[in-house]
Amino acid sequence: MRNSLYFIGLSFVLFSCGSQKNIQKNSTAPQTAVQNVKTTVKKPTPVQSNSEIKKEGGYDFYKINIADASKNDNTISYGSIVSANPSGYKIVKTFFPAVAQNFRQKYIILHYTALDDDKSVTVLTQQSVSAHYLVNNLGDKEIYQLVDENKRSYHAGISAWRNDKMLNDTSIGIEIVNAGYKTDASGNRVFPEFDDAQMKKVAALVKDIADRYMIPPTNILAHSDIAPTRKQDPGPKFPWKKLYDEYQIGMWYDEAVKQGFYDEIVPETFAASLADAQFIFKYQTALKTLGYGLEPSGMVDDATKKTIEAFQFHFRPENYDGMMDAETWAILQALNSKYPNK
Ligand SMILES: [Zn+2]
Repeated sequence: MRNSLYFIGLSFVLFSCGSQKNIQKNSTAPQTAVQNVKTTVKKPTPVQSNSEIKKEGGYDFYKINIADASKNDNTISYGSIVSANPSGYKIVKTFFPAVAQNFRQKYIILHYTALDDDKSVTVLTQQSVSAHYLVNNLGDKEIYQLVDENKRSYHAGISAWRNDKMLNDTSIGIEIVNAGYKTDASGNRVFPEFDDAQMKKVAALVKDIADRYMIPPTNILAHSDIAPTRKQDPGPKFPWKKLYDEYQIGMWYDEAVKQGFYDEIVPETFAASLADAQFIFKYQTALKTLGYGLEPSGMVDDATKKTIEAFQFHFRPENYDGMMDAETWAILQALNSKYPNK
């Protein structure tokens, strides 16, 4: 009986934390409902929780991380705990957290806005597209958050990487203010450079997000990587190698391994194999193994060219003609040997 009173008292305290409206709504219902639950259900013995919860500003937070790398390498929990507030009942957190859980945030997708600073803010906050973060190019210390990390933002569209599709569901989207490409007189795309100070912001932001959600290097990607037939951003000027070298962000190949694969290639036979359906199938499969959403067919179609182009934007930006060549093939093999698909 004392227990029941304690629970009723606690539920009243919890409901009191809500708005005035909630108190009025719930002040009569909970007592009988909670009593009913107490008399008809035999309570399981609480397990020893391995985390503590603290209250701050009306929200519950973990005091410590609950990662257990030996059980699951992605069970760390972070941030506020969002709970239901069912009318007439109370949420019990004694059995919480379960070991079998991970983050919904599995990817970081990088974009450029192809707009200036002001227009980027307007479009990403007032229209049907958005991103979690917007990195301006004003030389200040600010990064704008537009969407809660626990919510979906609309930045990826139709997209795929490895076994995942529609990456809005599982990613954090970062938009970077950059003018995007212009087409010159001879029809070539000219991509503008990214500002150094802006890249430092991007690096600090990506590192922070990747660390908190344990996002692996293979899941830090360009929009063009996950939607190669539709998208070119953030384009070949985006400094992936610099981010890898200076901040350990994302994927990059080992030069010696790439050279080893390159040295195995015999130029004459390689040139002939480029028209060979078996070899085309082989490199299409290698692109798919790395993560690209390309179905191997043995034919060089538009999707294949666009996927090779996206790969070159990311890993061989000096030449992104969308054609398979010896260096592209060597880099692709070096990446697959370093980051095998599980
Ligand atoms: Zn994009």
